[in-house]
Amino acid sequence: MVANQIAARGVSDELVLAAMRAVPRHEFVPDEYLGQAYDDHPLPIGFGQTISQPYIVALMTELLQIEPGDSVLEVGTGSGYQAAVLAEITDQVYTVEIIPELASSAEESLRRLGYTQVIVANLDGYYGWEEYAPFDAIIVTAAPDHIPSALVQQLKDGGRLVIPVGPPGAYQTLWQIIKQGEQLVSYNWGPVRFVPLTGGPG
Ligand code: SAH
Repeated sequence: MVANQIAARGVSDELVLAAMRAVPRHEFVPDEYLGQAYDDHPLPIGFGQTISQPYIVALMTELLQIEPGDSVLEVGTGSGYQAAVLAEITDQVYTVEIIPELASSAEESLRRLGYTQVIVANLDGYYGWEEYAPFDAIIVTAAPDHIPSALVQQLKDGGRLVIPVGPPGAYQTLWQIIKQGEQLVSYNWGPVRFVPLTGGPG
């Protein structure tokens, strides 16, 4: 998976490649999809949600530019897989999930596999997680149609936000946004497909 799907497509950060090799993806996939756990596509995880394609997990992790000790917020815990990948790199991982059943099953998986440092909560991540802000990096694994201002506010100076933005049910654009003082520097990483971000004011 790592050689053919991830490194071959240009992900080169050794911390990310090592994390992708270390996390047992099959532990985060429902039983009926076990045979496809390492395949090159997303998979259903229940409640109409999906665990992202391995390459997209690796790319987004690389764009976060995290180092050991950085604090990172994930919006959209889902299965807990992306959180485990983050936890291979840093011990300060906070992740929020709006569907209570997914929040508790992901927390259970993470505990069972020893990712005990990951802090999981059943919250609406449209508003970030003020309690633990500011963050060095924020990753959003569901797509809003605009950038939630709370997420930008909860970034440290120099912090990175990696987020798909666009209409539900269509392609969105993957953005890497770097906060530099009052300025936001944005990089477009091309089209992606994510489930919609729910919650927020609408
Ligand atoms: N990162 C996950 C995949 C996430 S799928 C993994 O590795 O498995 C996107 C998830 O975002 C879904 O579980 C969905 O319920 C959740 N979500 C959608 N809107 C949200 C919101 N406002 N706050 C928190 N989670 C949200």
